[in-house]
Amino acid sequence: MKIGFIGLGNMGGPMALNLLKAGHEVSVFDLVPALVQKLTEAGAKAFASPADLAAQEIDVLVTMLPASAHVRSVYLGEQGILSTVKPEVLLVDSSTIDPQTARDVSAAAAKQGNLMVDAPVSGGTGGAQAGTLTFMVGGTEAAYERAKSVLQNMGKNIVYCGGTGNGQVAKIANNMLLGISMVGAAEAMNLGVSLGMDAKILAGIINTSSGRCWSTEVNNPYPGVVETAPASRDYVGGFGTDLMLKDLGLATEAAKSVKAPVTMGATAQQLYQTFSNLGYGGLDFSAIIKMLSKQ
Ligand code: NAD
Repeated sequence: MKIGFIGLGNMGGPMALNLLKAGHEVSVFDLVPALVQKLTEAGAKAFASPADLAAQEIDVLVTMLPASAHVRSVYLGEQGILSTVKPEVLLVDSSTIDPQTARDVSAAAAKQGNLMVDAPVSGGTGGAQAGTLTFMVGGTEAAYERAKSVLQNMGKNIVYCGGTGNGQVAKIANNMLLGISMVGAAEAMNLGVSLGMDAKILAGIINTSSGRCWSTEVNNPYPGVVETAPASRDYVGGFGTDLMLKDLGLATEAAKSVKAPVTMGATAQQLYQTFSNLGYGGLDFSAIIKMLSKQ
């Protein structure tokens, strides 16, 4: 297939590489020339703007951008995708953004006759490189069916979530729970160790008991408990505190629009905001445990 890809950052770069590896013809655009170069060296063709790329003969166009404002401008702006894209092109936005923006952009695309899905991911940069991402897809079933064959080159779980915007809904609900569960894991680990327990034994008990979750088992915030977790390498790599903060912001904002109470989500958001303000925004979000310890 002929595939366009816009946004070649930490996630988009390796995702576009996987499309090339799968044998597709890939056309790319990013604002950062060095990122474009990496892809052209691997066989992609570069274009000068989203409009320029979208005007090409392509089957599918994927975007992987930082946040809602970037998605609005790349699709709806003067040099944006919708200014030139042909109606038969399937549009796939994999950025994590608010559900309303996903619905607005998709409605603008539908007016021009383009099918569009929101398909945010989980799995992090490791999953992007390995091609094992989970895609949460919102849109019509017809659009999902078309998107699936492309997304399978970049991920291993492609899950249909229902109508437009529901991919984003699934993503922000999951990440809100993750943010909350990590604070809980940090409190439990810190409490147990402060009261005299060995961290590994405590984690072992939790992970065979009812407190078990991804934050205790895979990404335990206490250093040395899980060798492969960011906590065991000074919280470098992993899922950055500022990215978690962004997703909690999306969740609490979206919650307002439907008057859904998210007391725990909002509290977690405030904790990560404080932690980020202290200068730790670049560390894995499990480093929030640092705020609890007496040192
Ligand atoms: P990133 O900042 O590394 O990459 C974003 C890319 O978009 C950059 O290369 C930037 O130059 C480009 N860009 C920005 N504005 C542009 C424009 N107008 N035109 C063209 N390119 C433009 O971010 P990332 O880590 O790749 O994340 C992308 C999205 O995926 C975000 O929404 C993020 O929340 C989500 N996400 C990230 C992770 C992760 O672990 N990094 C995990 C899951 C989801």
